[in-house]
Amino acid sequence: MDRYAVVGNPIAHSKSPQIHRLFAEQTGQTMSYEALLAPLDGFAETVASFRAQGGLGMNVTVPFKLEAHALAERLTPRAQAAGAVNTLAFGDEGMLGDNTDGAGLVRDLEHNLDCRLAGASVLLLGAGGAARGALLPLLSSRPKKLVIANRTPGKALALAEHFRGLAPQAPLEACGFEGLAGLDFDIVINATAASLAAEAPELPPAIYASGSLAYDMMYGATPTAFLVAADRAGAARLADGLGMLVEQAAESFALWRGVRPDTTPVLAELRRQLAGG
Ligand code: NDP
Repeated sequence: MDRYAVVGNPIAHSKSPQIHRLFAEQTGQTMSYEALLAPLDGFAETVASFRAQGGLGMNVTVPFKLEAHALAERLTPRAQAAGAVNTLAFGDEGMLGDNTDGAGLVRDLEHNLDCRLAGASVLLLGAGGAARGALLPLLSSRPKKLVIANRTPGKALALAEHFRGLAPQAPLEACGFEGLAGLDFDIVINATAASLAAEAPELPPAIYASGSLAYDMMYGATPTAFLVAADRAGAARLADGLGMLVEQAAESFALWRGVRPDTTPVLAELRRQLAGG
């Protein structure tokens, strides 16, 4: 049996085993996928042990994405740009590190939410791991403008500087939240960790252009504080990050198995469960 796993700490809450089991069923792949709890100081050992037991690949989640980047022997360009790895593949050519989070976000926006990034003005809130993973795939989708805004402005400026080095022509700007006054956007993506603390980033009013989408990478049974605030501030459409979760998993699955699963029924099943159905 081909073995895969997700590794994190904590890990009990992870929906990845269920998502990959549904993908495997749907595509007729014979494989197993388990959740592995790694000690906080034992990530490399957990990966090495799983690999030694014949494991073929792993998803990596909080707090190990940076360590996985350091551990990988080869990196895809998007993982290199992000400085973080959420997917490992063990093959004859060593341990490949990829980052499928940003591609998952873009696919959710464009495919599931029918939201056109090309020519759009996009605001990315946050400068942590999720924002780093999203930037190259977002820029590759050719937005008219992409602004990174962060509570600590220096981190947004540093991130923009880093990505300008990789994509010099990119229409990329950065500022603190106050710097957003007077600007409006077609797509506003919350990649801050504020929602984890049931908080919303403190943003100026009127950042939502007519017909705009507010997207929170966090997902849950009820709308996050960010989505509630966006609704009040005039966003036309609201979306959470459940689709991103399923789409990033599909990207990993395609890398490992060479088959792209249909995410629509899997996302519908997860949504049904989240709603308590
Ligand atoms: P990080 O801890 O790396 O994010 C830190 C960022 O959040 C920093 O920019 C920080 O600002 C900002 N921040 C934290 N609290 C607040 C606040 N109260 N107000 C404003 N900004 C705040 O987390 P990640 O990047 O790993 O994750 C971010 C979010 O994305 C999480 O909700 C996570 O669940 C979600 N996510 C979803 C995925 C999916 O598949 N749907 C995949 C990956 C992540 P500062 O620099 O000022 O401290």
